[in-house]
Amino acid sequence: MIVYGTKGAHLKSEKVNGIRCNNCNEQTTHNISVFGKYFYVYWIPLFPLGKKVISECNNCKVTYERKEMSDQLKLAADNVKRDTKTPLTYWIGSLIIAALIAFIIYSGNQHKKDVATYITSPMVNDIIDYKSSEDNYSTLKITKVTNDSVFVVANLMEIARQSKLHKIDDDENYNAERFGLSLTEYQEAFKTKKFLDVDR
Ligand SMILES: [Zn+2]
Repeated sequence: MIVYGTKGAHLKSEKVNGIRCNNCNEQTTHNISVFGKYFYVYWIPLFPLGKKVISECNNCKVTYERKEMSDQLKLAADNVKRDTKTPLTYWIGSLIIAALIAFIIYSGNQHKKDVATYITSPMVNDIIDYKSSEDNYSTLKITKVTNDSVFVVANLMEIARQSKLHKIDDDENYNAERFGLSLTEYQEAFKTKKFLDVDR
């Protein structure tokens, strides 16, 4: 269940003098308060939903929302509201999400660059992902590299999802017989999608 809703918080109060109160008819001081509202998910503010302004007469204590204020009071209230900044923390959830997305994109691009290097110059202990059967994935581990060849040992386990391959990447699973392929064959296998990914 996703917990979400809206919440308000007091941002600022300011006293303005010499405004006639519609209720007690005194020329008096009004306390103008600004409240900020935000939308939250799991108690983390996601984005702001605007500001609300309320006045209180110091003499008779009547409170007004903006729409009930006299024109003079409305003008003063709008000034206070304009001077009240929406806290940056009201955006914190959106900022976190944006940062996460940026990080995922960055990591993905970085991995692509790394893979290109790994394919060009393979190294012992590189782990290659490939589709081992109709429904499963498995890995190969490079155990030897020469000028023109790559030698690998197959993982004897397989798993249904490529993203879960790390779960079967145990030393003890690599006990099949070693076989070799030429460097050209090795690189070609990535182009034809026989080999899907390589990690170092
Ligand atoms: Zn009053």
